Amino acid sequence: MSIKQVLVIGGGAGGILAAGRAAELGAEVTLLEKMERPGKKVLLSGNGRCNLSNTRDIGEFITMFGPNGRFLYHAFHHFFRDDLLKLLAALGVMTLAEPDGRIFPVSGKSTDVVKALQKYMSGRGVKVLTGVKVTAIEIADNSTVSVKTSAAGYPADSVVLATGGASYPQTGSTGDGYRMAAKLGHSIVSLRPALVPLTVKERQAAASLQGISLSDARLTSFSCRAEDIDVAATPRADRGRGLVTGKSRSPVVESRRGSIVFTQDGLSGPAALLMSLAVADAMKAGPVSLAIDLQPGKTLLQLSEDLKTVICAHGGRQVKSILNELLPERIALAVLMKAGVPADTGASQVTAIQRQAITRALKGLAFNVEGVRPLTEAMVTAGGVSLKEVDPRTMQSKIIRGLYFCGEVLDLDADTGGFNLQAAFSTGYMAGECAARAR
Ligand SMILES: Cc1cc2nc3c(=O)[nH]c(=O)nc-3n(C[C@H](O)[C@H](O)[C@H](O)COP(=O)(O)OP(=O)(O)OC[C@H]3O[C@@H](n4cnc5c(N)ncnc54)[C@H](O)[C@@H]3O)c2cc1C
Repeated sequence: MSIKQVLVIGGGAGGILAAGRAAELGAEVTLLEKMERPGKKVLLSGNGRCNLSNTRDIGEFITMFGPNGRFLYHAFHHFFRDDLLKLLAALGVMTLAEPDGRIFPVSGKSTDVVKALQKYMSGRGVKVLTGVKVTAIEIADNSTVSVKTSAAGYPADSVVLATGGASYPQTGSTGDGYRMAAKLGHSIVSLRPALVPLTVKERQAAASLQGISLSDARLTSFSCRAEDIDVAATPRADRGRGLVTGKSRSPVVESRRGSIVFTQDGLSGPAALLMSLAVADAMKAGPVSLAIDLQPGKTLLQLSEDLKTVICAHGGRQVKSILNELLPERIALAVLMKAGVPADTGASQVTAIQRQAITRALKGLAFNVEGVRPLTEAMVTAGGVSLKEVDPRTMQSKIIRGLYFCGEVLDLDADTGGFNLQAAFSTGYMAGECAARAR
């Protein structure tokens, strides 16, 4: 039996696993990477700590990808978290889970993960060529025959397209794979930024809060204008992908409790990033707004009672100095402005109506969404090669024989938490295995 030639395009999480696994099964594997070294996005991941997987079970993982998650069923059942952790341990990288379920290398260094992945490839004889940009995949009789760069051609029995998404182009993911797949007849589901900061229409107000970070707020997006938000409709529990959605006809798009950061033109931080895709999608149907609950631990009623007590106890102080004990000064001023209460009002002068207005502003500091930051700034690209045209049991194209896909080039994206990397590793492993065994 002749030795199979497998060409892997792209040396990210998916491509590396595909190359290593195909070589492990005896294929002659060449990985072509256009950057000066593989794994640049893995290096950036998890703020340089590499959140490589999660302790949740397969069912929960799948829900984190929305309806498309079902595509991952076979790949996850074939090579999942424990397999990945075992592989990494054999390569010298021990991992640990944080209380929230996210898994990182014990060293806290993504460089250790990239070094281990390189060892996985070199130990199995993968030929890695860097600084080589693939421009096309050549086919004959509907089967892959070679991969072309501007300088050379590489014959291939099987090709794994592992070029990633189109975000963070400085890591090498510039969307080349979508163009190559489209040229071969694959449909590309429209590319959208996911896990990206939100921008708001109230630019001046946002800019005045720039740099402030709140560790515990509830951010809720509503499918209406900011003026029309009913603060009482803010859910008390999170709503969003991977979570029980609650009322189906609610104006709430998503709601997340966590940290937020004010940016020059809007909001970032985990709570904002997580809802960005749902917000962008909801904007196609009409205006979307945001309400920030600055006191998420208290109900409207509790907060109103607490404010009454504090204001009565400190009648001689200015209302802004009372709020300042709860919040950073600039936010306190924004709350008072929204409530229409002058900042220097003496606490004893605050009327019941003003107190209610302050309570509502604290429970729902509102902004109109303008949009989301561009794809290049997104942590993940939503959309990609249509899953309808890829066999989930092998990752092989249903259109071109010998063509396999893995990782973010596929129409798959999940929330933060290690799900995206695990999907790239799992689909890469499966694509490599099937590419080596095919035909
Ligand atoms: C800042 C940031 C932090 C993140 N943190 C996390 C995290 O902590 N946990 C998590 O699960 N996910 C995280 N993600 C997402 C995760 O990193 C990606 O989903 C994952 O790396 C995708 O892997 P991939 O192999 O599909 O693609 P990529 O890692 O993007 O790799 C694709 C590779 O293909 C190469 N390539 C592209 N075109 C060509 C071509 N024409 N010829 C040759 N080579 C080519 C690229 O140079 C690149 O090396 C993060 C993303 C970003 C941007």
